[in-house]
Amino acid sequence: MNICDSDAVSLSLLTFGADKVNALVDADVAVLNTCSVRAQAEHKAYSWLGRAEELKAVKKDLKIIVIGCMAQRLGDKITKRFKSVDLVIGAKDIEEAAKKIIELQNKNSKAQKTDARSGKPDADISDFSLKLSTPSANPVRYLTIMRGCDNYCSYCVVPFVRGNEISLNCEDILKQCEIYAENGTKEIKFLGQNVNSYNYGGINFAALLEKASEIEKISRIRFMTNHPKDLSQDLIDAIASLPKVCNHIHLPMQSASDKILQSMNRKYTYSHYRLLVEQLRKKIPDINITTDIITGFPQETQEDFQATLRAVKDIRFGGAYIFRYSPRPNTAAAAMSDDVPIEEKKRRLQILLDETNKISAEIAASAVGRRRLVLAEKCEDGVLETRTKDNRKVFVKGSPQDIGKEIDVLIAQAKINSLFGEICK
Ligand code: SAH
Ligand code: SF4
Repeated sequence: MNICDSDAVSLSLLTFGADKVNALVDADVAVLNTCSVRAQAEHKAYSWLGRAEELKAVKKDLKIIVIGCMAQRLGDKITKRFKSVDLVIGAKDIEEAAKKIIELQNKNSKAQKTDARSGKPDADISDFSLKLSTPSANPVRYLTIMRGCDNYCSYCVVPFVRGNEISLNCEDILKQCEIYAENGTKEIKFLGQNVNSYNYGGINFAALLEKASEIEKISRIRFMTNHPKDLSQDLIDAIASLPKVCNHIHLPMQSASDKILQSMNRKYTYSHYRLLVEQLRKKIPDINITTDIITGFPQETQEDFQATLRAVKDIRFGGAYIFRYSPRPNTAAAAMSDDVPIEEKKRRLQILLDETNKISAEIAASAVGRRRLVLAEKCEDGVLETRTKDNRKVFVKGSPQDIGKEIDVLIAQAKINSLFGEICK
């Protein structure tokens, strides 16, 4: 979602006449988009700001702008700590970010490089990306279909920084998809904190997938993230029956202990989660199920952890993001007494990581010798980066002309996170 937001802000800055530079040292304006989900992400932002401040000491005209979730969460605490930061724009105002940045630059800079070409700044992010879509280099497009989240999982800062859940207008989404398609996009990736609770005027997510499938030039549709409590039979049927909808689902489990799930306010039990996995695999036999897991949540005992480890071995996820629990300000979990030492959180994380890596490698290896239809996304030094429908990266020899094409490849070699193949003649 942050990549999508950063792209939208950067594209809209370009429409205002800004130029993109490759190195911070060459910039007049540096914009840092931030994440607050874990403390580590915020630490990274702080250290980047430290470096930017050092640069500004010698390059006095440099404007430093902080946008996104951390900007929303901390507001002017950022400018108090980092005196050289010129502007802070929270996640809820991200659509206005480019306009505000240009205003600041126009006000403060005599030797400005930017000029507000369009006169009236357009606040609709989706529109900005339309004007500048670069089809040949962009066969895959992200599209935010909803903002915010109402779930208040007890560990999570997202509802506090991104606000309430809002589903965006279905017609606008489809119009946007069509324009992308006309500009050469082959794959659309719908984004939201909880896409499967999408509902705009009675149109649910399954219905949106169905409508998007009707766009002729789009050949693949992906989506993330899904909340297990909102995964309906309707949606499972839509994934099963709509050929353009990819056979991959990211379904964060977080834990397999019912006690911990309840304390996380996830609103499902492990047996419900397990049942969903079974139903998905029954209706979509080749589906790749990936997940998120948190280790060392407050009061997670060895027994709770073992339940999660057993679930990982039993379900055999195609991939998993595993995080050490990180207390976040204002969240309900931050007020819980946390009796799991950091070292133990790390140890549990490593055990799960070793297990999921082993399983992912085995699943990847089972693809060797098989043919897969891949979409070519990028090309570097004669090597195409492509993706299967079940979301596995495959590297094959090819040329930039192949970008955007669906190609049949034979998988020759497998590593945990990527496959290597040859184009079938
Ligand atoms: N809306 C998405 C999640 C967004 S955050 C969803 O519900 O799936 C992405 C992942 O970060 C979460 O699934 C969770 O595993 C992890 N996460 C969120 N807050 C965390 C915290 N305080 N500590 C550790 N991991 C966290
Ligand atoms: Fe956070 Fe839960 Fe909302 Fe995901 S569903 S963003 S984890 S509160």
